[in-house]
Amino acid sequence: MINDTHHPSKTSADPERQPFAGNREVATPDRVPRSWRGNLPVALLLLAGALILPHSAAADETEAQPIKVVATTTIVGDVVSLIGGEQINLETLLTPDADPHGFRPTPRDAMKVADADIVFANGLGLEDFLDDLLKRSRRRNQEPPPVVELGGKGRDPHVWTDPYNVMAWADKIASTLAGMSPDHADTFNARAREYRSQLEELDGWIRREINGIPQDRRRMVTDHNCFEPFSERYNIPVAGMIIPGFHTLSEPSAAELAQLTRTIREQQVPAIFIGEHMNPDIAEQVAAETGINLVPIHTGSLTGPDGDAASYLNYMIANTTRIVEALKQPIPSNESEKDHDTGE
Ligand SMILES: [Zn+2]
Repeated sequence: MINDTHHPSKTSADPERQPFAGNREVATPDRVPRSWRGNLPVALLLLAGALILPHSAAADETEAQPIKVVATTTIVGDVVSLIGGEQINLETLLTPDADPHGFRPTPRDAMKVADADIVFANGLGLEDFLDDLLKRSRRRNQEPPPVVELGGKGRDPHVWTDPYNVMAWADKIASTLAGMSPDHADTFNARAREYRSQLEELDGWIRREINGIPQDRRRMVTDHNCFEPFSERYNIPVAGMIIPGFHTLSEPSAAELAQLTRTIREQQVPAIFIGEHMNPDIAEQVAAETGINLVPIHTGSLTGPDGDAASYLNYMIANTTRIVEALKQPIPSNESEKDHDTGE
């Protein structure tokens, strides 16, 4: 099982470091996430920093100022925070559970962007609001910060649903931050390598889970076109969607809904997966008409800390678990014919 244990710890009380901190006051709280401590080069860097910087030398610390980073979505923010650790000061524009397609930035968001050294965005048209935020920066007579679009393969902006795209994100974030703070390049790169290996583990786990779904039930209907990269990577075709397209902001026509209902019946689609921030009315209507299950899923955002998708890794685990459970369910109308499925 994969556990997401790599969030930077905010606690500065660290019993393991007491022998060093005890001699004199040391102004190096957790510069590195707790879980990275096993990494020897990082531990050495940390120790070196702790010995060089006395508590009172506030002026000397200007050089070691954290990089001011803005991330657009919570998913981008999670990965940026893992790679940047204590060397960055991160502001994430979207709140947990928000829909990126309908996001309206506030004046405070504009200030965060104007103040940032760098912005990390998903890209591929997901953040329609970003241009406006950059323009507002210019109106304050400030050169807007550079924007790094993380992107990924394919045309669907929901690139993170394929962990291989997020592996590339980790490398891109590490190399960008390393360029801005060369002293910490090794740290950023080591974190990216470690995260990449966790994502490889995640990918292996998803494959094993999906292998448990009978071949003829591997198809899904989603609320909008938000699982194309996942669908292609793990070979679960998206048979249709409630709102055709990559956004959640339109409504399907009556003809589109009639076609969707036919498709669900013809292809015996086991379930409709709907984002938790979506209005479920239309999907409920389609589910009722076709007699299939409506399954909530995470789409554009992580949950808050108490939810089951508080990190990208947990987001993927939660969604995969829901998808696999729902697709393994027997299809009520054709059960007698489907009894003999064994999967692979
Ligand atoms: Zn979306």
